Amino acid sequence: MALERTFSIIKPDATERNLTGKINAMIEGAGLRIVAQKRIQMTRAQAEAFYAVHKARPFFGELVDFMISAPVVVQVLQGEGAVAKYREVMGATNPADAAEGTIRKACAKSIGENSVHGSDAAETAAVEIAQFFSGNEIVG
Ligand code: ATP
Ligand code: MG
Repeated sequence: MALERTFSIIKPDATERNLTGKINAMIEGAGLRIVAQKRIQMTRAQAEAFYAVHKARPFFGELVDFMISAPVVVQVLQGEGAVAKYREVMGATNPADAAEGTIRKACAKSIGENSVHGSDAAETAAVEIAQFFSGNEIVG
């Protein structure tokens, strides 16, 4: 498997409850390296652009409001098969369906306030990383 990068967000429900360190420990415990990280307050425009793919969904407004309700931590994770591996570590979108040992099982409050985002493919990862990081901020 190839060395890959994926984009991660520690969402407002998690930063608010001081779960950044716990989530980072789970990420690193799974063998993924955090090669870039910053805590930001997302703007409405950034959140709308980031989740543009969900624009037509009934939960879009709620999702954008949630993502700007408190600071988030944006990250680039690197490792063998990082995209799929992080999706595995995150667990199912709805914490009620998430497997034991996953971040969402351990931390998420609901299907909306589900603690983390992870890219769903290598192509989307590249686009998402470029939305929040410049090349010299990522040190592998
Ligand atoms: P993410 O893209 O954040 O990593 P995901 O890929 O597991 O999550 P998506 O289907 O892409 O899930 O949905 C994006 C986000 O929209 C979810 O993580 C969640 O915060 C929110 N969301 C999804 N479905 C619902 C829903 N039915 N009600 C409220 N919010 C939802
Ligand atoms: Mg998604």
